[in-house]
Amino acid sequence: MSEENKDIMNQTEESKADTTENNEDEYEKVCYICRRPESKAGKMISMPGNIYICPDCMQKTFDSINNSGMSYEDMLKMSGMNMNNIPNMPNMGMFMNDMDMSNMNIPNKQKVKKKKTDEQKKEEAIDLSKVPAPHQIKGMLDEYVIGQEYAKKVMSVAVYNHYKRVATNTMDEIEIEKSNMLMIGPTGSGKTYLVKTLARLLQVPLAIADATSLTEAGYIGDDIESVVSKLLAAADNDVEKAEHGIIFIDEIDKIAKKKETRSRDVSGESVQQGMLKLLEGADIEVPVGATSKNAMVPQVTVNTRNILFICGGAFPDLENIIKERLNKQSSMGFNADLKDKYDNQEVLEQVTIEDLREFGMIPEFLGRLPIIFTLNELTKDMLVRIMKEPRNAILKQYEKLLELDEVKLKFNDEALEAIAEKAIEKKTGARALRSIIEKLMLDIMYEIPKDDNIGCVTITGEYVKEKGAPLITMRGADLPLLENQA
Ligand code: ADP
Repeated sequence: MSEENKDIMNQTEESKADTTENNEDEYEKVCYICRRPESKAGKMISMPGNIYICPDCMQKTFDSINNSGMSYEDMLKMSGMNMNNIPNMPNMGMFMNDMDMSNMNIPNKQKVKKKKTDEQKKEEAIDLSKVPAPHQIKGMLDEYVIGQEYAKKVMSVAVYNHYKRVATNTMDEIEIEKSNMLMIGPTGSGKTYLVKTLARLLQVPLAIADATSLTEAGYIGDDIESVVSKLLAAADNDVEKAEHGIIFIDEIDKIAKKKETRSRDVSGESVQQGMLKLLEGADIEVPVGATSKNAMVPQVTVNTRNILFICGGAFPDLENIIKERLNKQSSMGFNADLKDKYDNQEVLEQVTIEDLREFGMIPEFLGRLPIIFTLNELTKDMLVRIMKEPRNAILKQYEKLLELDEVKLKFNDEALEAIAEKAIEKKTGARALRSIIEKLMLDIMYEIPKDDNIGCVTITGEYVKEKGAPLITMRGADLPLLENQA
């Protein structure tokens, strides 16, 4: 993920933290001992200091403290819960009063929103008429994502169908298949960016996870189910909202089956196996506010039937597997030179399930990702467009920054091309653009505020190639330039 994206994520985290201070009534009570929410553990007993204990834990506590035969029912009868009056436990009240209650509250991030009433559910249910049509979704994506036309089209249709399926909830006659997707594309070609933009436009919660951090439950690393807890956190611990969200699992190619392993493949094939039920739809017990289950974390059940899963990966060397297949198919070895006939992009577009199986993805896993498509490697032209065209294009951001100093910033065409060339060399797609531009701008942003007379700075190809300096025009002197532009 790029720095920029991290910033955005951090900002949203912060804003989320702000909003979680809200109404306590929205959240379920959680047992202080076993951390189960009220909907699971049964009616809570209130203690001083906003502490709640579930009947089971209360009973266990009593069982272990003494054998006086007092039961939970007896206790409920005791009005007011005056702890000093409990027979055989005269010290309990003192103990409770001495404790620093302020530290005992459950942190907000571990609180679960209460289940909604049927009325509220109806109001919030996805209304098919409100789901934008595929061409509208693509139109919105176009404003942010440059190129990748095919990917945008496939995604728009798949997402539309997915929410159609969610809205109509057709389980009766014909069940519409889930539109989970598999994106294949080089690093920095916009896979994560596409999914993020999509989730923002549709206003559904999104969780991004890295397949490399996942391991089979019980091993070092995150459990597979941790991706669902991330989504729950992104949905503000609102289970129903999370159940309509999107989970993006990046670097999915890294969990391909290992070719030869003698040890247990805990982070490859078994992760694929473990993900099967998630992808298809199942009730998953997830920890709230943490990525692993332990006794101190409350748990809730999330159903993944309507969660859209999008997997992405670069699948290095997949072209060679495809080329080999194409070679075999083309008649009898006459076309031994076929390998060089296609460029990589054309080859990649012909990917089939068999090729991906050969790569090391298991058939059951692929079967649950019915929509497979590829993204193009970014060309020089696309990189130039990415710098200047999207709504929040990086050049627009810098122009705005300098505008606040009343200085005009321009990049001439040679400069843009030189930056794109530098980015291609780095082989990290569009991700390299920001760091290159940041480096170029550092001196400029440092020097400009020194001199009030500077009116316009033009970044030239020479400056990018470190062969010259940027063009600086003083205020007043740049009038003819401004006219040219108008
Ligand atoms: P990856 O394919 O590795 O997931 P990202 O989606 O993280 O790549 O892309 C990195 C950054 O590059 C994004 O945050 C975005 O700013 C930019 N970017 C990549 N591709 C595009 C594109 N097609 N249009 C606009 N910006 C893009």
